[in-house]
Amino acid sequence: MTEHHARKRFGQNFLSDPNIIRKIVDAIRPAAGDTIVEIGPGLAAMTDPLVERLGHMHVVEIDRDLIARLKERYAPERLTIHEGDALKFDFGRLGAPLRVVGNLPYNISTPLLFHLASFADSVTDMTFMLQKEVVMRMVAEPGTEEYGRLSVMLQYRFRMARLFDVPPGAFRPAPKVTSSIVRMLPLPPDKLGAQDEALLGRIVAAAFGQRRKTLRNTLRDFLDEPDFAALELDPGLRGERLGVADYVAIANHVARKGASPV
Ligand code: SAM
Repeated sequence: MTEHHARKRFGQNFLSDPNIIRKIVDAIRPAAGDTIVEIGPGLAAMTDPLVERLGHMHVVEIDRDLIARLKERYAPERLTIHEGDALKFDFGRLGAPLRVVGNLPYNISTPLLFHLASFADSVTDMTFMLQKEVVMRMVAEPGTEEYGRLSVMLQYRFRMARLFDVPPGAFRPAPKVTSSIVRMLPLPPDKLGAQDEALLGRIVAAAFGQRRKTLRNTLRDFLDEPDFAALELDPGLRGERLGVADYVAIANHVARKGASPV
């Protein structure tokens, strides 16, 4: 088969280091009977050892050339290929419990993580490779530079751990940055606590919209001085000082007041 030329617009960097591939697949711990979907199988660096252990799996791939290769290589009873954009894919239709893995296209990683978070209820775990800098933001603690909207919204739904780093030399072509493997375990629904998750999302977006401003400014559409007092919250703080539980408390207070902005 002719060589595939990596397409930048699809964020294509293909894993080529067999030791790293083995390490990632071991971290996923695939077991026969698991329903696993891989986002962006590419040239099947991870798909191959996964299918080997699972017998069957699902993949979502956008690149038609890669899809044609996958079809040639795998019988449909071993690989179900979903052709199209993972950002629009309904992961819920694969049934629960679902395990999601992938060396994600870095150019769409943030919207993809938000899209995937909406299927957390039917997911057992997700194991992804992402830019290290994004993983650091996902697992960041309050008060740190990396802590932001992505940290709060994902930590609200998942327990997350950075497992190990992967150097640029493990890929062809080599990316400019170091990557990390992250594991995401959905929290049980009764642990989440926000009465209105869309409202929580709007409040967190507002709090981090202008990082240098205080909550008094950034949350002025949601909270007035008595609200801050009722929540025992210092309006002079910046959004980065608050933990996930603080944001949930704010969102539930606003929901109770019925005073979300128009
Ligand atoms: N898994 C392979 C590996 O580790 O070598 C390829 C990883 S490469 C970083 C990202 C893969 O995601 C490519 O195969 C690319 O075509 C695919 N991809 C990019 N954007 C996508 C999208 N929106 N939906 C589904 N797949 C996408």
